Amino acid sequence: MTVTPADIRTAADRIRDHVVDTPLLPDEALSAMLGQPVLMKCEHRQTTGAFKLRGAANAILSLDRGALRGVATASTGNHGRAVAHAARALGVPAVVCLSRLVPANKVRAIRDLGADVRLVGDSQDDAMAEVSRAVTREGLTEIPPFDHPAVVAGQGTVGLEIGAPDTVLVPLSGGGLAAGIAVAVKALSPRTRVIGLTMERGAAMAASLRAGHPVAVTETATLADSLGGGIGLQNRVTFALCRDLLDSVVLLTEPEIAQGIRHLGRLGHIVEGAAAVGTAALLAGKVVPRGPTVAILSGGNIDPALHARVMAGADTVAA
Ligand SMILES: *Cc1c(COP(=O)(O)O)cnc(C)c1O
Repeated sequence: MTVTPADIRTAADRIRDHVVDTPLLPDEALSAMLGQPVLMKCEHRQTTGAFKLRGAANAILSLDRGALRGVATASTGNHGRAVAHAARALGVPAVVCLSRLVPANKVRAIRDLGADVRLVGDSQDDAMAEVSRAVTREGLTEIPPFDHPAVVAGQGTVGLEIGAPDTVLVPLSGGGLAAGIAVAVKALSPRTRVIGLTMERGAAMAASLRAGHPVAVTETATLADSLGGGIGLQNRVTFALCRDLLDSVVLLTEPEIAQGIRHLGRLGHIVEGAAAVGTAALLAGKVVPRGPTVAILSGGNIDPALHARVMAGADTVAA
């Protein structure tokens, strides 16, 4: 099961009326510092505050509307929010199952979008078990957060909007965004480097790529909370695409991610930790630009109190 460049072009046509073609803006400060053009793809300005709306809208629009009794998902937040928004826009009921660890601001945002939010357990596994129950008992259709061809194709539409830079820096968790962007970008520009970025601890895709197969990792608190969670031991789509298409994966410490949030914050871009990893890697010298470089700012849904603490100098998620 895979995703082709044609699938991504089809997705772009399908979701056109439901998503924003977000701006691609120069990061003048980083460009001057590094001597190469650095650009920010502003998905924190996407409707619902993250790129996840692209995959969710494409997946829901790909379903047989006649058979649709409703959709369900488990999510660390941004995907649930995207499913809720897309479902409401398309007139489909949505159930969103979340672990009790998901930040309160994200839970509230999903409820405000009219979804039936179910808070269960304290892990992503518990939330996913609740989705399975809803699928079996209530006849809902699951919209997975990353490991689904229509979701990957939707996320890949970001790659159609960034031209053909030398390097693309993509936040990496389950790999839907990285896989989709890599398929789109490598088709347009085979020499473009696509680099996945994630936190040092608890990064399931990074550990799985090292092991050569999907593995589970222990989750730890991180500024990049949207990058937490496993990739699924039965992963069908994203593991193979990330293995085959990513040029490398770079790991960031919490202080490095905090630096990235602060740099972007000073430029007026309020982003969550997951969205700051590309900028963080450039600031830390862990990625050396060798031509035009695009950092994907994947989302802006950070708890305002946490953002304020980081701007004031905090280097970790601890209060
Ligand atoms: C989901 C998410 C990611 C990671 O995307 P994957 O497709 O799971 O790799 C990165 N940043 C933000 C803001 C997200 O919500």
